[in-house]
Amino acid sequence: MQELTHYINGAHVKGESGRFSDVFNPATGEVQAKTPLATKAEIDAAVAIAAAAQPAWAAVNPQRRARVMMKFADLLNRDMDKLAEALSREHGKTFPDAKGDVVRGLEVVEFCFAAPHFMKGEYTEGAGPAIDMYSMRQPLGVCGGITPFNFPAMIPMWMFAPSLAAGNAFVLKPSERDPSVPLMLAELLEEAGLPKGVFQVVNGDKEAVDALLDNETVQSIGFVGSTPIAQYIYARGCENGKRVQCFGGAKNHMIIMPDADMDQAVDALIGAGYGAAGERCMAISVAVPVGKDTADKLIEKLIPRVESLKIGPYTAGDDVDYGPLVTAAAKERVLGLVDRGVEQGADLVVDGRDFKLQGYENGFFVGACLFDNVTPDMDIYKQEIFGPVLSTVRADSYDDALKLAMDHEYGNGTAIFTRDGDTARDFANRINIGMVGINVPIPVPLAYHTFGGWKKSAFGDLNQCGPDSFKFYTRTKTVTARWPSGIKEGGEFHFKAMD
Ligand code: NAD
Repeated sequence: MQELTHYINGAHVKGESGRFSDVFNPATGEVQAKTPLATKAEIDAAVAIAAAAQPAWAAVNPQRRARVMMKFADLLNRDMDKLAEALSREHGKTFPDAKGDVVRGLEVVEFCFAAPHFMKGEYTEGAGPAIDMYSMRQPLGVCGGITPFNFPAMIPMWMFAPSLAAGNAFVLKPSERDPSVPLMLAELLEEAGLPKGVFQVVNGDKEAVDALLDNETVQSIGFVGSTPIAQYIYARGCENGKRVQCFGGAKNHMIIMPDADMDQAVDALIGAGYGAAGERCMAISVAVPVGKDTADKLIEKLIPRVESLKIGPYTAGDDVDYGPLVTAAAKERVLGLVDRGVEQGADLVVDGRDFKLQGYENGFFVGACLFDNVTPDMDIYKQEIFGPVLSTVRADSYDDALKLAMDHEYGNGTAIFTRDGDTARDFANRINIGMVGINVPIPVPLAYHTFGGWKKSAFGDLNQCGPDSFKFYTRTKTVTARWPSGIKEGGEFHFKAMD
């Protein structure tokens, strides 16, 4: 069986702890590799190497750092299929979806070509007599990142691309469930010209995360994952005086108004609810039709579409709608929640619990499930399911639908489907959720805007991507200078008193 490594100081390094985590092929259920789980000492050693490499990298001018990003982007394009294949093999998502994962990361890398622009400071000439004042943006030093399993290419790139372009060194602790792509990205960064030691990948679990959080050299922590871990990391990182941003779980509502284009809404729910087996933080997991007629029509049109979704391994071709869940534990958790929904009285109008794929009986596949008549007190409504399960909560009015979404503790994304501009505008203005779609089910902002939720979906005051990313990965220093030591008048320097 393949034993995966860490990537430290420009080389693949075997783990020293003797502890490993299994990496599955989710389509077959077989263990295909094991990934080492780093000790505190291994993390500390990687951070020390990163700290030693960082000053020389920070001294490279921003234009040249941006050129490394340009070359890296070329290499991502060159190796796109290879990366997507490795990603599908460990994660289980379809090949087109895996390519999308790489492409959305690539877009952030492309945004970072503008690093020189974002590193520019500000200047006030004559802030006082003979006094000029300027602010500069400087890198933080060594930054840490902890990423989830569901986007093993895109989310690490959200973090390390702006961090590296700003002149930092970066230590990434990716998800132990699909760690191969981050290791491949480390190789590509070095091929693109990044000096050794500036980017490290250290695999691990809580022990490695805690070591990063407690290491005094690490200046910032970026985290994306589930909300309980986000809260833990935010609290411990802040307590240790670090700059921390943590992005957590989600329960994204899509409101369907009576005037919506119903076919468009159904298409949107199929893609956003079941794509990537629902393992997306921007997946729609709650459909909220407004009015009985809208709800009845929606359910009638959804049922045959949900029943005909094609589920299979990524090797089965591009017409597969979604693949297996990432682990057996994830599958058991999702099936348990579906059972709970039935027990608590929701109507399971499409039941995918017994789905079995011939030849892949041990894979972590879950058939598509559709609930009607879900109510806010049910566990399937309160919790993030992270599986191919869509819950329908019927609302009597627009105000009830708005209130429902606003009262949920998560606030990552949401959408409204309507033909009415007034309603759409009101929704966008009043909703307390970070990313809003109008007739767009998954409103993931492009790389030059920022990405982030509200409420229990995000902790910290800056978003990821866009201009916020350069703010997060730099700090400002402001210089007040009197130079030369006076104003030249009649061949002499002297000060003018301020009046
Ligand atoms: P997770 O919270 O289980 O793991 C995320 C990371 O935290 C991994 O690297 C993992 O090793 C580490 N970790 C796990 N348990 C830990 C512990 N006890 N102490 C310290 N570190 C620990 O999340 P996941 O299952 O990998 O990813 C799915 C979750 O991520 C979902 O909740 C999803 O909504 C969320 N997510 C959010 C966004 C966003 O932008 N808001 C994006 C993608 C995924």
